[in-house]
Amino acid sequence: MNPRTALVTGGTGGIGTAIVRYLARQGHRVATNYRDEARAQAWRARMAAEGIDVCMVPGDVADPGSAEAMIRAMERDCGPVDILVNNAGITRDSTFHKMDYQQWSEVVNTNLNACFNVTRPVIEGMRARRWGRIVQISSINGQKGQYGQANYAAAKAGMHGFTISLAQENAKFGITVNTVSPGYVATDMVMAVPEEVREKIVAQIPIGRLGKPEEIAHAVAFFTTDEASWITGTNLAINGGHYMGW
Ligand code: NDP
Repeated sequence: MNPRTALVTGGTGGIGTAIVRYLARQGHRVATNYRDEARAQAWRARMAAEGIDVCMVPGDVADPGSAEAMIRAMERDCGPVDILVNNAGITRDSTFHKMDYQQWSEVVNTNLNACFNVTRPVIEGMRARRWGRIVQISSINGQKGQYGQANYAAAKAGMHGFTISLAQENAKFGITVNTVSPGYVATDMVMAVPEEVREKIVAQIPIGRLGKPEEIAHAVAFFTTDEASWITGTNLAINGGHYMGW
């Protein structure tokens, strides 16, 4: 395995932490962004206690200027980005007839526009170095839709359109671009859902439980290997069998 420099956006969250940990244990130099300095330092100390030194850069992925500054700071402090995992995401659920523009735009900006904001300042360097791995963390709900999540489902489906276009444009430059679409994973985002709703969700999962963040991290890490060099423009669903469509 060749050690690379990886940026995992939203690396301090539930799935992000598992991805950071997995890539770091494979020997990569791993970076993530933060918005709240105190929370970031506490998280970094937790990772350091596990023997993982994470390079931390400030940045809001929903803001193009902030995201570009984040990438430049990362290049300066941690090295150029070889592996990019567009993982930061939020939900602002509401049925569409009650949804306001803020709920719509926050979700689209953080999940979808962030792919532009973060990948745009990274892609030229990857092309020049003729190697790159880009993974989008989308969602089962981008594949099947979800009551109360027109904003999130639209953004997450859009991420895969981004993946397959970017994959075509950059295939000749040693860059692969793929999507991972998790089902319901036991992180704060899902544990915030009322228990009775969660029980109904689990009842729809053939494997009979929520996913674990490490199970998502394992798939992301697979896409970032040298050996995965012939896999590009694909979408890997990891959902316990919850949705088996294409
Ligand atoms: P968390 O809420 O645990 O973590 C989200 C992370 O994204 C946090 O580190 C958060 O940082 C960061 N973030 C949010 N908004 C921004 C922003 N504007 N700029 C920079 N960072 C930001 O979520 P999960 O770990 O559960 O989810 C990770 C990804 O997986 C998301 O894209 C989500 O949509 C997707 N997903 C999750 C599923 C699940 O079941 N959990 C299922 C399917 C997909 P901060 O602390 O600053 O807010």
